Amino acid sequence: MPHATPFAPTDGPASPAAAGGAMRARLRRTGLWVVGGSVFASAAFAHLSFTLFGELDYAGTMIAAVLIPLVVSSLAFGWIASLTLRLEASRADLERLAHQDALTGIANRRAALRRLESWAAEPVPIALALADLDHFKHVNDRLGHDGGDASLVHFAAMLRKLVPADWLIARIGGEEFLLAARGLDPADFGARIEAVRTAIAITPLITPAGPWHLTASFGIAARSGTEGVDRLITRADTALYAAKQGGRNRTERAA
Ligand code: GH3
Ligand code: MG
Ligand code: MG
Repeated sequence: MPHATPFAPTDGPASPAAAGGAMRARLRRTGLWVVGGSVFASAAFAHLSFTLFGELDYAGTMIAAVLIPLVVSSLAFGWIASLTLRLEASRADLERLAHQDALTGIANRRAALRRLESWAAEPVPIALALADLDHFKHVNDRLGHDGGDASLVHFAAMLRKLVPADWLIARIGGEEFLLAARGLDPADFGARIEAVRTAIAITPLITPAGPWHLTASFGIAARSGTEGVDRLITRADTALYAAKQGGRNRTERAA
């Protein structure tokens, strides 16, 4: 049976520039309809009045003077308002998609780096962990890509559940995740990460083929002084490598 790849390119959202161009074109069209509609409605009313009644009386003229713009401008305003609301909804969607991992719903790499940079702008302690799912190629081989994707969603959901709300959690690569906290004692952070690692290892993903136990390796680094984000991540990555070398499903701390 052919396997549907989850990596097939999908239609992405329109770029902001393209959306802006389309919006301007729509507004131009709307403007033409409003002006043209008003002129047409007034001319049609005057024509009908002269044709039917010969001439307009004062009361009829005044009623028409109020009713015609009231109807035309109300319709036009409703139309413009709905266009504007749709544009705002698209803009909010684009903003969310730019910072969210589409598969798991947690922050993506760009959002994580941005948040870390803003934390690092102040001289606060930052503790950071990189997590990498163990033998993920094997997971894909055994469960298929859809099962692999389900494992990533499961892992992210576990992180969401296990980690305090003020921590940063992000998917920064295929099966790589980042967790970070600020203002926390590195020993406390390390203990929380160990608890997360163990909880994940003992909570299986339920698959059609039965329960599947996922494990991940973690590398931890605590910010020293005013250390930059790049350097902090590199040190956590080195610790993660050591965790992999040490046998996986374990946590190592950076020197
Ligand atoms: P290790 O324990 O050393 O980390 O081994 P590994 O097999 O996890 O590591 P490796 O980096 O060699 O393989 C990662 C695999 O993750 C390869 C790639 O096909 C898979 N992968 C990356 N992104 C996705 C994704 O979005 N969905 C699925 N299903 N698989 C993914
Ligand atoms: Mg990896
Ligand atoms: Mg891996």
